[in-house]
Amino acid sequence: MSVCPYECTANASREIPFMTKTRTISVARGDGIGPEIMDACLHVLSEAGAAIKPKFIEIGDKVYLRGHTAGIAEDTWDILRDCKVFYKAPITTPQGEGYKSLNVTIRKTLSLYANVRPAVSYHPFVPIKHPQMDVVVIRENEEDLYAGIEHQQTTEVVQCLKLISRPGCERISQYAFEYARTYGRKKVTCMTKDNIMKITDGLFHKVFDEVASGYPDIESEHWIIDIGTAKLADTPEDFDVVVLPNLYGDIVSDMLGQIAGSVGLSPSANIGDNYAMFEAIHGSAPRHAGKDIANPSGLLLAGVMMLVHIGQPDVAERVHNAWLKTIEDGIYTYDLARKVKGTGIKRYREVSTSDFSRVVAANIGRKPEHLKPVHYIGRVANFQKPKLTNVRNSEMQLDGVDVFVRNSKLSADELGEKLGQIAEPEFRLIMITNRGQKVYPGGLPETFCTDHWRCRFQPPKESACTTNADIRSLLKRIEQRNIEWIKLENLYLINGKQGYTLGQGQ
Ligand code: NAD
Repeated sequence: MSVCPYECTANASREIPFMTKTRTISVARGDGIGPEIMDACLHVLSEAGAAIKPKFIEIGDKVYLRGHTAGIAEDTWDILRDCKVFYKAPITTPQGEGYKSLNVTIRKTLSLYANVRPAVSYHPFVPIKHPQMDVVVIRENEEDLYAGIEHQQTTEVVQCLKLISRPGCERISQYAFEYARTYGRKKVTCMTKDNIMKITDGLFHKVFDEVASGYPDIESEHWIIDIGTAKLADTPEDFDVVVLPNLYGDIVSDMLGQIAGSVGLSPSANIGDNYAMFEAIHGSAPRHAGKDIANPSGLLLAGVMMLVHIGQPDVAERVHNAWLKTIEDGIYTYDLARKVKGTGIKRYREVSTSDFSRVVAANIGRKPEHLKPVHYIGRVANFQKPKLTNVRNSEMQLDGVDVFVRNSKLSADELGEKLGQIAEPEFRLIMITNRGQKVYPGGLPETFCTDHWRCRFQPPKESACTTNADIRSLLKRIEQRNIEWIKLENLYLINGKQGYTLGQGQ
């Protein structure tokens, strides 16, 4: 049975009279288990005295099916922009091509660049292999492979662009250190794969080091993502705050959420300079919808993060401590009850979603006796706004071009000879690679080649400059030889420094 204290229809709201200035927030009850867990959370927040006025909006499944491929109607954006703070239950993304992920759309449209995902052990009340785990993942939320720019390049090869920007790296690294300082954390760890992706992940790492030097009170370190993830899974207690590019952050935070005991426990905050969105990390779990059994904890703890964000740390503290007390009293929804069955934990009670929220509400004002109580008062997130370096005036000098061609007739040597003959006078053919591996000059017959070739042309003399006109005349000569070029990448020197990688084996 619903416990929602507000009238949950679009744009309806109930103001709660409190001393603190009431804050209007937009609220989406979502799909699947969304409405029942959102009602449970709003009940707890209301009982704890949250001075919030929800403005309910409709997004997700029904909106997708009405023909909005992004899952949100145009006029809903105005509400999100007016309220600035969004409390969101999970939504269902319809299967099939053409539907865009609404989460990604909201994060990018509102520039919610920092995704904060704590993963905490509630040992011994929630079984966990890592009783000391207390990690906060700070995931870059807008860039990387999530730009969603993908193309079929040739019949055999498809491509996804990985975009990393200096402002993006500066904002997320500064956020991670500001977070660590505000919440009394000791260390920030960065993870990338910059031994392979030297320019994209390399920039993320480089900026992290630059930012770290401005926070000498906080320890900093860098791990290569593969071994770093293995270490995180094995000894999460060795980590504190972890800052990651988008894709690695997504994977690592889900892994830690699972390690913590249930995906139903983990909250997530999406923070930008002007807007913020708070949600659980899990989805709409359609199989459990309408049964009043889902765990509302992830969404409730996201509500706690929201209360800190809007300057109600006292209420946040009351809710969080009441929730900790409930967990240590062994009041569990089905997911945790199933987890403790067969373990040493004997005293527990399995309850419904709505009963769980009633118990948490009844515990408002109480503190946990075994788990560590939380303290938010005095820790209001008052982060420094990001300071961005202006690099737009850097000198960019064109130093050649990579011409990508589709070819399934000529061998690497034949293609190389043909292109070599037409490179002059502006260029010489430096090399040809296939899937990044150098195959001309001096390739091996064993290397497997697709129909997608990258041909690098640079000026014959090192000092010579390339112009766009030079590239246009090169392309004309390539076309005259019936070679099909499919795309170009300009090669630049940035302030005299190479802004491109060499081919594998070059
Ligand atoms: P899911 O997270 O919804 O559910 C996977 C499983 O996890 C469930 O079957 C259930 O066993 C468990 N689970 C999840 N939340 C739980 C909770 N609160 N309490 C107890 N158990 C819980 O993942 P899915 O099934 O892959 O995705 C379902 C839908 O949700 C998809 O349409 C997906 O696109 C969407 N989704 C939305 C969000 C979001 O809105 N933020 C995030 C992820 C997935």
